[in-house]
Amino acid sequence: MKKYTLIGPFKQILTMAGLPLKGALSDEQLPIVENGGIIMVDEKIHAIGTYPQIQAEANGLNAENIHIKTNMVCLPGLIDAHTHICFGGSRAKDYAHRNSGKTYLEIAKAGGGIWNTVTETRKATTSSLIEGVKTRADRHLAHGVTTIEVKSGYGLSVQEELKMLRAIALANEQCQSDLIPTCLAAHMVPKDYKGGPDDYLLEISTSIFPILKKEQLAKRIDAFVEEGAFSPASIAAYFDKAKAMGFDITVHADQFSTGGSGVAVKYKAVSADHLEASSKKEIQLLAKSNVVATALPGASMGLGCNYAPARRLLDAGAALAIASDWNPGSAPMGNLLLQAAVLGAFEKLTNIEVLAGITYRAAAALNLQDRGTLKTGLLADFTAFPTNDYQEILYQQGMMPPSLVCKKGKLVVTI
Ligand SMILES: [Zn+2]
Repeated sequence: MKKYTLIGPFKQILTMAGLPLKGALSDEQLPIVENGGIIMVDEKIHAIGTYPQIQAEANGLNAENIHIKTNMVCLPGLIDAHTHICFGGSRAKDYAHRNSGKTYLEIAKAGGGIWNTVTETRKATTSSLIEGVKTRADRHLAHGVTTIEVKSGYGLSVQEELKMLRAIALANEQCQSDLIPTCLAAHMVPKDYKGGPDDYLLEISTSIFPILKKEQLAKRIDAFVEEGAFSPASIAAYFDKAKAMGFDITVHADQFSTGGSGVAVKYKAVSADHLEASSKKEIQLLAKSNVVATALPGASMGLGCNYAPARRLLDAGAALAIASDWNPGSAPMGNLLLQAAVLGAFEKLTNIEVLAGITYRAAAALNLQDRGTLKTGLLADFTAFPTNDYQEILYQQGMMPPSLVCKKGKLVVTI
């Protein structure tokens, strides 16, 4: 016999259902169920509606009742569509050096920069990588983030990239949140590689792609398309191969110079992430495509530079997701809600645009159809904040932690 659970009443349920994937949104469009309840069965949502109506349905199903006695506003579980939370070491020294005015080159000479993280990650054991991922994922879960994308990209050799992806897979088994792995072996050409970018990419794709399939380590291939990393021309054969093998493509695009967003559109990528350097041309290109434009405000905060043009992307008609980019170098904070709220203030985004960026539009960036909104048949992933008005959530700029987080029908955080 199926076991049903009723949870509620919530002051408001923001289902985020029935909204367009692309373009600007006004707060009047926000689908709110006032005084609502949710019936869950197994891992999924069975029904959602006003509390009296849903309570009557629950009685007929002999549902267990989780009665909420305080004010709460319920949202879909938050989705962080871009992180690098699998790593060894710390870059606190880099952060201080950068803020004191040292150049990229000076920091690299002092043993810092991304190569420091690569060295520390290579030195790390699989179990210490797993522990690091779990600790960060659990912190995210306490903040209401129930799905987290996690990239490799600090191994930069066949063996070390696989070590990272296997660690992410094992961490996923031990975490309550879902970790969505992405292979970012094309983060940069490793310093110790004897050959050019084309040789490196050929070796990586030939050796790693089949193993990703065989061991089901990742369905997504990412690359850093940037001056000093991989050019649009050098990444073409790599993405051709990935596409032919059925991987989803995602691109680190337009962070410091443009070019990456064009690659993302050409390869029908699921997302183009960063976009701080995107100009009108790139904005138009993305808006005409189905590529989700993912802003990473945490990287702008960490580096002290401008934000992605989120307002202009939405006004042009693009789909905008917002992710944390949590990584040891440029985005050490890892607080998705705080960063999304601050991006909203700087870029003049409506509350609904910000919330869409960390729920259903983030789900689209990960090509996940089973989450991101609250409706019958989707995963019972939701998070509830201790307030009677949804506007308080972003107004508190990330400082109001959820009082309840539900992952696949299980309460995983309760305060
Ligand atoms: Zn990144």
